[in-house]
Amino acid sequence: MPETFSSATNSPDDGPFRSRLSFDLDVDICVVGAGLAGLTVALEAARRGASVAVLEGRHVGWNASGHQLGTVMPGYSLPISDLIERVGIEDARELWALSKEGADYVRAAATEEAMPGIALTEGALEVSNVDAGETLISRLQTLSEDFETEVEGWQVDRVRDQLGTAHYFHGIYYPRAFQIDGRKYIHGLAAQARRAGARIFEDTPVVSIDPSGIRKRIVTPSARLRASYIVLAGNVHLGAPLRRLSETLLPVWRYAAVTEPLGERLGEVITFRGSVADSDGIDHFRIIDGDRLMWASPETTWEARPRRFAAVIQRRIATIFPSLGKVPISDVFGGAVGVTVHGMPQIGQLRKGLWVASGFGRHGLNTSAMAGQIIARSILWGEDRWKLFSPFELVWAGGATGRVAGHLIGLWGRGHSAAAGALARYREGARVRERVREARLAEANRQAGTRPPRRPPGAPRPVRPQPPRPAEARDGRMPDVPSQESEKIRDGSV
Ligand SMILES: Cc1cc2nc3c(=O)[nH]c(=O)nc-3n(C[C@H](O)[C@H](O)[C@H](O)COP(=O)(O)OP(=O)(O)OC[C@H]3O[C@@H](n4cnc5c(N)ncnc54)[C@H](O)[C@@H]3O)c2cc1C
Repeated sequence: MPETFSSATNSPDDGPFRSRLSFDLDVDICVVGAGLAGLTVALEAARRGASVAVLEGRHVGWNASGHQLGTVMPGYSLPISDLIERVGIEDARELWALSKEGADYVRAAATEEAMPGIALTEGALEVSNVDAGETLISRLQTLSEDFETEVEGWQVDRVRDQLGTAHYFHGIYYPRAFQIDGRKYIHGLAAQARRAGARIFEDTPVVSIDPSGIRKRIVTPSARLRASYIVLAGNVHLGAPLRRLSETLLPVWRYAAVTEPLGERLGEVITFRGSVADSDGIDHFRIIDGDRLMWASPETTWEARPRRFAAVIQRRIATIFPSLGKVPISDVFGGAVGVTVHGMPQIGQLRKGLWVASGFGRHGLNTSAMAGQIIARSILWGEDRWKLFSPFELVWAGGATGRVAGHLIGLWGRGHSAAAGALARYREGARVRERVREARLAEANRQAGTRPPRRPPGAPRPVRPQPPRPAEARDGRMPDVPSQESEKIRDGSV
């Protein structure tokens, strides 16, 4: 017999809210995990009239979802060229369109009225560490022509003018991308889900599930639930309920820092106000609160205390922006993202009534929003767009060996990117030096052409050209244009 839960603290009027589920419960949909993915599924399903319970082992936004930079862009962790190669241009287009829908969803949800202080700002810039103008042009064409995405190509000068560093070359500007306060967003999402009728229980880890049968069973340390549908949105921490699913994700902890206010000097160095990310996925930063830098870069494949990375980020900022020097850090944070072997998120139905939404990597804001909508509509309206993700199967991420390999690949990628960047900047310097040398040579040649050549030893002294006579000046020729005669004298033939 279904039992209902009621709690005085479970008010739709949000506020700081923590409530552990300690009663048995019967719902249409049970969502495991109150991160971006789980909360979007819950919100969308509750809006469509389903009874929804979200079970969160810690608290809302405890992991990556509450510790991100808030940049919302179209696309996936998998580069667009690989996506096309994997599924062909038609499906790649549809997948890309879905990722744009996800970004639009966040934009519509993240209004100042709905989420006060969300501080939405426009535009994001992807910059290249190497001088790859040709690649840039072909990517611009693919994005704008084949994938109908608004983009602008920025030349090196423009990138450097706005970013005040010689580290970057060309850039792709996404005027429709935007950024928001990431923490406000996740809590705003939870508030909207509650208002729509979803119940969110924190400090309620799911320890096991039994997905067989029409009514599925979910067990927590203090309660049991029954639900027609389970959505697993626990990302890398899912653990016991379906360990084999957790093992298809490589956990990557990414760390970020916020500087102390840097005053006017920050605006003098960086005039660009949107998010900046390099095309190798190493650095990602933006200005917040007018004069602070928020910067994400270091990664590990094991959990570490974020504070340890303050100095690393400080050095990174000084490397990219030497004119800022060593900036004081006020906060460091981090979270684990789930990286799949193929780079695409896990969205779909594992068996009847058992759904998964995870593996969003560093591209979680738009893709988790997209997943939330797709899954809620599939469950309640029978849509089948999730099948576009079926080519991206659940592939074992290699366990402990996978983590070591992931770490080494990460190190190699960073080292490779740094070396390629250094080489590109060296080449650029060499080209500038070469241009200066050529200009000097040309100038020397020009001067040599106007100066009398050296007289061979013993040759008669040349006759000095006579100043033009007034008659020559009067016959229409400018006095400083040499006559044929004076030319002959100059080249020594007279
Ligand atoms: C430093 C950093 C910066 C980032 N910047 C950006 C950015 O600018 N833009 C962007 O798009 N993405 C960004 N990301 C990525 C983005 O944050 C993630 O992709 C996204 O938050 C993943 O959301 P999720 O809901 O899948 O997972 P999570 O946030 O991990 O949420 C899963 C939740 O499930 C809970 N859970 C797990 N197992 C259980 C269980 N058994 N029972 C109950 N609860 C459980 C966990 O406690 C957790 O709260 C960034 C990530 C980091 C770390």
